[in-house]
Formats: sequence, structure tokens, C-alpha cells
Amino acid sequence: MSDEPDHIADVSFDEALEEQIQTTARRLFALIRDDKPALLSQERLQAEVMDWAMSDERLKVEMLRFVDVFPTLRSGGDIARHLREYFAQEGVAPPPALRWALTAAGPHSPLLPIAATTIRRQILGMARRFIVGRDAGAAVHALERLRDEGMGFTLDVLGEASVSASEATAYQERYFDLLDVLPAQAAAWPPLRVVDDAAWGPLPRVNVSIKVTSLYSQIDALDYDGSVSAVKQALRPVFRKARDVGAFLNLDLEQFRFRDLTYTVFTQLLDEDEFREFEDAGIVVQAYLRDSERDLRTLIDWTRAHGTPIAIRLVKGAYWDYETVLARQEGWPIPVYADKSDTDANYERLARVMLESTDAVRPAFASHNVRSLAAAVATAQHLGIPTDGFEIQMLHGMGDPIKSAFSQLGIRLREYTPVGELIPGMAYLVRRLLENTANESFLRRTFVDNVDVDQLVAAPAPSSDFATPDERLPRVRATDPDSPGRFRNQPHADFAREENRRTAAAALELVRARLGGRHPLMIGGKKVSTGETIVSTNPARPAEIVGVLDCGGAAEAEAAVAAARAAFPAWRDVPAQERAAVLFRGAEIMRRELAELAALETFEAGKPLREADADVGEAIDFLEYYGREALRLAQPRRFDHVPGETNEYSYEPRGVAVVLAPWNFPLAILTGMASAALVTGNTVVVKPAGPTPVLAARLVRILDEAGVPPGTVNFLPGRGDAAGEALVCHPDVDLIAFTGSKEIGLHIIRRTASHPGRAWVKHVIAEMGGKNAIIVDGDADLDVAVLETVSSAFGYAGQKCSACSRVIVVESARDEFVARLVEATRSLVVGPPDDPATRVPPVITSAARDSIESYIEQGRREAAVALATPAPPGGWPDGGHYVGPHIFVDVDPRAVIAQEEIFGPVLAVIAARDFGRALDIAQDSDYALTGGLISRSPANIARARREFRVGNLYINRGTTGAMVERQAFGGFKMSGLGSKAGGPDYLLQFVTPRVVTENTLRRGFAPPAHDNRP
Ligand SMILES: Cc1cc2nc3c(=O)[nH]c(=O)nc-3n(C[C@H](O)[C@H](O)[C@H](O)COP(=O)(O)OP(=O)(O)OC[C@H]3O[C@@H](n4cnc5c(N)ncnc54)[C@H](O)[C@@H]3O)c2cc1C
Repeated sequence: MSDEPDHIADVSFDEALEEQIQTTARRLFALIRDDKPALLSQERLQAEVMDWAMSDERLKVEMLRFVDVFPTLRSGGDIARHLREYFAQEGVAPPPALRWALTAAGPHSPLLPIAATTIRRQILGMARRFIVGRDAGAAVHALERLRDEGMGFTLDVLGEASVSASEATAYQERYFDLLDVLPAQAAAWPPLRVVDDAAWGPLPRVNVSIKVTSLYSQIDALDYDGSVSAVKQALRPVFRKARDVGAFLNLDLEQFRFRDLTYTVFTQLLDEDEFREFEDAGIVVQAYLRDSERDLRTLIDWTRAHGTPIAIRLVKGAYWDYETVLARQEGWPIPVYADKSDTDANYERLARVMLESTDAVRPAFASHNVRSLAAAVATAQHLGIPTDGFEIQMLHGMGDPIKSAFSQLGIRLREYTPVGELIPGMAYLVRRLLENTANESFLRRTFVDNVDVDQLVAAPAPSSDFATPDERLPRVRATDPDSPGRFRNQPHADFAREENRRTAAAALELVRARLGGRHPLMIGGKKVSTGETIVSTNPARPAEIVGVLDCGGAAEAEAAVAAARAAFPAWRDVPAQERAAVLFRGAEIMRRELAELAALETFEAGKPLREADADVGEAIDFLEYYGREALRLAQPRRFDHVPGETNEYSYEPRGVAVVLAPWNFPLAILTGMASAALVTGNTVVVKPAGPTPVLAARLVRILDEAGVPPGTVNFLPGRGDAAGEALVCHPDVDLIAFTGSKEIGLHIIRRTASHPGRAWVKHVIAEMGGKNAIIVDGDADLDVAVLETVSSAFGYAGQKCSACSRVIVVESARDEFVARLVEATRSLVVGPPDDPATRVPPVITSAARDSIESYIEQGRREAAVALATPAPPGGWPDGGHYVGPHIFVDVDPRAVIAQEEIFGPVLAVIAARDFGRALDIAQDSDYALTGGLISRSPANIARARREFRVGNLYINRGTTGAMVERQAFGGFKMSGLGSKAGGPDYLLQFVTPRVVTENTLRRGFAPPAHDNRP
């Protein structure tokens, strides 16, 4: 560490700095010498396991998965079974000794229990390496040892995700526990100057790191203000306590979706009068985020205005894989750098910004990367900042030789030390193992791959992508039918981004101001008024009129079918490309009006904003997908490979299609059915669902604007028993596409079975109900099981045919699962859908509410009530049709509430003695629409794939939210007939195939044959 500036007088600052960084890094490496971090060192069995894992990606995945499931394995037998399932799979090459124990000695090998015991010991040993104690009391000894070694600490409370208010309160109590127990103990510790004193004065000995998500189970960027307020409310007493006992608090940074929220909580709280002068608070900046320099500069500016300095911990970021996978799944811009060297370069850049701002910021550099840390240290020296003007932080159990090198340099070093139970702390262990074994991990490169020091100390070379800012989604223009490109799902709105929250709020206001408009029928391209009206109202405020529609009857049905019939020949003969172009233009209009359409759903269907946005997105997906599918079907299919004949295979539209749509996915399903009919050349009569006609009217106008000729789409709101019945029975209707209840679906099938006056059999596509089950296996990740069951059962108040209404839990997991499920459900906000905090909105009509309530009464007779959400004191707001979530336990699999579709927020919990029985119960139903399995047993997952016979089986996720193309949707048995919506066979139902064969042999002469089979 040169402190001689003379020799650099004639070179630029950057070059001199780089030289100093490398000198510092080499000096650190010299101090590290041949030391290896314990976990990666050669002598231990654990290190061997790590070496095996790092030698083979597949083995590493299985090892991490095994560590992840390990806490739920209650017996040696369970451990042995999972060992076999994970490591004896095809394609997994376990180390020879384990392979022998697993296979050569047979499935009942006496060696398996021995292997299980050894592995149990090793995993707990590994966990102990990273975790300092069960609670504050147990941690004291370890913390004292750290100080003996010359290090400070920041404590982190380990645990599972907080899925309920009671779990969040328990977390808060654990922070209080730390702040109760430790300061008194710490006061008696002998002083340790390097750790206790900074350039600006003495530092608290007790330092605690907090995750904001642990404090509020309903935290959600969409409900930004509500979440900020709830987290602040939980944090305020913790801050008060820390201030009173002289402890330091740091807010960790978690996933990107909580970033802005965490910064807002931190700055707003410290701006409150009582904390304005509280100096012992810190926050994190993640250098892997593309826009983290903006985060840092905003924080620095805020701190200067705020007047009291704060600590900033610079990290690279712990959620790289998660952020990348999530953004790619959702079609969002990826917020993190794609290239490791960009993150490293950014880390060094931000370290310099921090060190240039020490008037406002107390810098902490958290990393195990010698080059990154050397950059921070050398920059500090270069800027004349003393060694006690910043600190280095590392994780407990990681990079120990690097820690001792820093201690030897007399730089303050703080360990991030998790406290908590070993078993729930396993998720933390998995993250650490992932980090240690990642190909690009500095620790791995240094201590395992033995990369050359010259390479390790070299400056990170940023990629060409380094300067690219965090992007916004590009505006997508209408798809060109001549080159439509691959289908991609419309990305959901990312409400972690402020502009999306603002757009949604503005759209709500705009649409609210326009409610109450009049909507005529549309027949043969003409607006038709009937004198009779249908009034559409808001389920959350029945007095609020969303729109008034003319109501059609049998006469209008007759006219609409006649108009569709008249328009049919011309539309049938329109080239497929032009028909597809209409859908693509419709999609473009919807993308333009997305926020307003979603707002309209919120008012008319009572959909909370996130689900409304998803429904409009799905409508766009149907237009884009079916447009492409129609182009595919229209491609010529010729079979001319036999001489003397040509054969042409093509599809012909069926004729006039009646579309009978449901109200629960008011835009998506209607758009899907109508556009499938249209794009294949049928003409359409749309009869919207009773509660959501305004949205249907809007769709018809969009199709009109997109260029559908008059008469091709006709709009006929009306009562089911008049207009609906007239359409179903009309002899000139060729096809009925229906989505709705089993009762009406079967009625339609019966009515169309006999068709006097018709020469053709009417074709019916009927998507009906479900009584969907999620199986929770004995080894399930209960965080996933609880959260996914809650959202599948109670999202949109359970009003989805895909909703989970039975959860079948394997006995060994029952008690813990039910306890957490009930608390998590109790924490859901029931309220109006335009309130961003709402998770459970009102049900669609008062009749629906009455029906659900009668099932609840039935449940009380048949089973035990685990949760009955009461109306709030003073009743539900604005006369909305609310039903709070209800959970019944000990339900008999044959009980009415376990067999009949309820279509509301009512969940039956059924216990099963083992997985096989759970599977039987799940399939003991008239329906087969969706099903779910939460399990970490590869064998049970494989069995469910084979034997859990439902239309859509979801493994380790919820049962709702199917995506077009990826999860084509639809069931069988009483759940419906027809092939899956959003899938490759769907359009075939709207056409009939034809083959034209021509004999080309004339007088013994034929053109040459050629093989043009597709
Ligand atoms: C004391 C302490 C506190 C921490 N607190 C937090 C916290 O509050 N929040 C948080 O998110 N993390 C936190 N971390 C974890 C930290 O963000 C890193 O995950 C971890 O330190 C590994 O980074 P490294 O510099 O030590 O190692 P390195 O091996 O140099 O870097 C690994 C890191 O590089 C990044 N990376 C990996 N691959 C790529 C790629 N292809 N493209 C771009 N970047 C890539 C990732 O961030 C990865 O973690 C903390 C770490 C420590 C030591």
C-alpha cells in the first residue's frame, strides 16, 4: 500500500489508482497465501462434497435441492428415500461411495440409513458454519469470539418468509430480543479500538441488519403507500429501541421489486422528527443493478438535505439468478447486468462515488472479492481517507483468510452473522452454497479453480453493454401478418416501477369519470336501440352505474344471426392474412388502451388491478396467438408425391358462431373465443355475460376499429333465457363457443343435440367448471404451499374456474400447514378492487354472494371451521357484495363442499395419510380442470405427472394464471369438451377440414410427381 504520491505525479489519476489497486490486491493475496476458507479446504468431508458438486452442474443442482428439502425430512427413512430420489436419477453422477450406497446395495440397503445419518451431520455442520446461534443468548459466545479475533458483527435474523401478520410480529419480537439482550452484554466487552472507533467517533457495538419483507406479510409494490406505511409502523419501535440502547440498524436490500419501497421506508422514517438526528442507521446499494448509480446519488443528495450522515453498505447483490429468471419469464427488462465484469466494474465506480461523499456517507464495502475490496481500499487511500473512515464487511463462514488479511492491515472488519434455528436457516445455507459454487464466484476462482493471481487482480473489463441504462419496455407496433415473428406473451405491468403505478392510478380516475355511458346493440354494422335496458353496476359499490345497455330479445337474436349469415360468404373468402391483420390491429389498440381497459374491469368485474392487467394482457395474447395460428393453418398442405393426382388439404370455416362469454375473465375469454371464430373465417354473434356487458361492448368497438366488416361481429346483450336461448336454438347457427357453469354448459349441449330445421350438426365448444385440488406433500416447502394455496384459492375471491377449492395435505405436514394457511389468509385485505391493498374483492353479484353463503352454512354442518372472516364492524363498505375468506378443515372428501363448485372464497382442507391417498382424493371429482402439487420428492412429482389426470397440472406453483401458448388451458370430464384455449389445436374446432383430389392423368400422360408434404 504505497502512500507515496511522488511517483504518480506525471500519470493520470485513473492509471495511478489502477496501479495502487493491483498493489493492494497483491499484498492481500500475499497475506492470504495458501490459506483456504474452511468450507472449501481439502481436509474436510464437506469440502469434498463441495468439490463433487462443483465438478458437475446437475449434481450441484441436486445437492442444493437436497439441502433445501432437508429440513422437512423428519426421519432417517425420509432422508434415505430422498437421497435415493435425488442422487440415483438418470443423468446424475453421485460420488462413487454414495452411488454404491444408493444403488449397488439396493433400495433397502442397510447403508442408506448410515449415509443418511452422515449426510444429516454434514449438512447441519455446514449450516453451523454460517449461522452463529439460535437466538441472541446463544449467539453471545460466538460474537465474543469474533471480537477476540478482531472483528465486529452485524446480526441477521434468519427465518422463513413471513406469510402472515402473526409471523411478521414474531420477527419484530426477535429484533427486540436482540436489542434487549445484547447491548447489556456488549457493554461489558473489553474495548476493541479498530472495531469500536471510526473516524467520526465511537460506533455502536451491537449492529443489527433487518429485512423489511419480514415485517409486513402483505408487502407489495403495487400498494406502495400502504406497504411503506405498514413497514414504517413495524420499524418505528425497533428504531426507537435501537436509539435508546445505542445499537446500529441496517436495512438490507432484497429483490428488485422491494428496492424503491425499502429506500422510501428508510428515508421517510429517518426524516421523522424523532429520528432526524439518529446517526446509527444504514442502507444498502446493489451494484448489479443497472441504475444503482442513480440510487446511490439520490441517497447521497437526500442525506445532505437530511443533515445527518448515514452508513451505506455497497454490495453486488444476492438475487442475480432470481432477477434474471423472473424478468425473462415476465418479458420485463432485466434490471441487473448480464455480465459479471460489468457488476464488478460498477462496484468499483460506486465505491469511488461513496468515498468522494464521506461528508454524507459512512462507507461499508461488503464483498469477498479481493480485487473489488482492494479497489475500495486503494481509492480511499488515493482520496486521503483514513483507514477508519470506512469498513469492510463479509459473511460469517465465508472467505476467512481474506478477513484475516484485512485485519492484519488494520482495517475495520464486520461479519454479517445470521442468528436463528438451523433448520429454517437452510434457505440461507442454500444461497451461500450457490454463491460459493457459482462458476463466476471470486471465492471459487481463487480457492478452488486456482486462477492465476494476475487474472484475479486484473481490472474488470466492462462489456459493450455496460453503459446501457435500465430499460423500459419498447412500444410494440401492430404485428405484420407478412412476417409476424414468434409469439410472445404480453408482459404484465411491473408495478415495482413507479411509472406503471402512476399509469394505473391515472387510468382509474379517467375511467371513473366516464362511467355510466350508454351502449346500443350492434347488428349488421348498425347501432340498434330496443327501449329495454340492462344496467351494469360495480360489485364493490352497487349504486355506481358502470354503463347502460340496450337489451336484446328473441327478435334481435333473429336479426343478429341473419346479419352474421349474410356477412359470412364474404368474410369466409377474405384471405387469412387479412383476417389475421384485423386481430393484430386489435391487439395494438388494446396495448394502447391497456391501462384503461384494466381500470374498466376493476369497476365492472371487481377485479383487483394486478389481475385486471393480467386479463387484458391475456386478451392481447389471444389476438396475437390466434392471428399467427390462423396463418399457420392457412399454409397450403399438398400431397402430390404420387404421380397422376394432386391432393390439397385445407380448412373451411363453419359459418355463424355464437359466443357466450363468462364475466370472470371478462375481456380475455370473450376475446379468445370471438377472435378464434373470426380469424378462421366465421362470423360472430357475441352475447356478453350479464354482469360485464360494457367490457364486451368495448371489445366489439375495438374489433370494429381494427377493420372487421359490418355484420361480421354482432353484439347482442340480453337475458340468457331470452336472447341466449334464442341464439342457442337458432337453426342458422353453426357453432357455439361457451365458457361458464356446468349447469348451463350441459343445457346448451342438450338443446343443440336436436336441431329441427338444420342439415348440419351444431358444433359446441364448452368450457365448464372445476373443483380443483392442490396436494401438499409431506416434504413440501410450506412457504410455497401456503402462498400458492392462498393466491389460488382467494385471488379474485375464488371466482375462477381454475381456482383451488380443495387442498389435500399429507398428514405429516398438516398441522403446520393449516396453522400457517389460516394465519396467512386472515392477513389478506378484503376490500374494493380499486384499492391497491385489496387481495380479496367482492363477489360479482348479490345472488353469487347468497349462493356462496349457503355453501358456507353447508360447510358448518359438514366440517370444522378453521377460519370464518367476519364482516367488519359496521358492515362491508358501500353495500358491496363481499364474502370474506372461509377455510374448513377435517372435510370428508365426499362432503358437498368438497364436491360441488362454489365459485367463491371457500376452501376445504382434507388430510390424507400419504401421497397415494392424496392423489386418489384429488381425482375423486366430477371435474378435471386444474390440479396442483407442492412437493420436493422427485418420485412423487413423476407419479403426479403420470397419474394426476387433470387438464392443467401445476407443480410447485399455484393453479391459476395460465399463460397463452406456454400453458394452453382447458379440462375434461365435467370441466368441458373441446381442446385447450391458447393452444395449438384450439382453432381446429372452428373449422372443418376439406380435401380436394384431382386426377392429373390424361391419356396416359401425367405431370411429374414431387414430394411437397409439409
Ligand atoms: C456483509 C454482507 C452483506 C450483504 N448484504 C446484502 C444485502 O443486503 N443485499 C444483497 O442483495 N446482497 C447482500 N450481500 C451479498 C452480496 O450482494 C453478494 O451476493 C456476495 O457478497 C457475493 O459477491 P462478492 O463480491 O462477494 O463475490 P463475487 O464472486 O465477486 O461476485 C458475485 C456476485 O456478482 C454478481 N454476478 C454474478 N454473476 C453475474 C453475471 N453474470 N452478471 C452480472 N453480475 C453477476 C452477483 O451479484 C453475485 O452475487 C451481502 C454480502 C455481504 C458480504
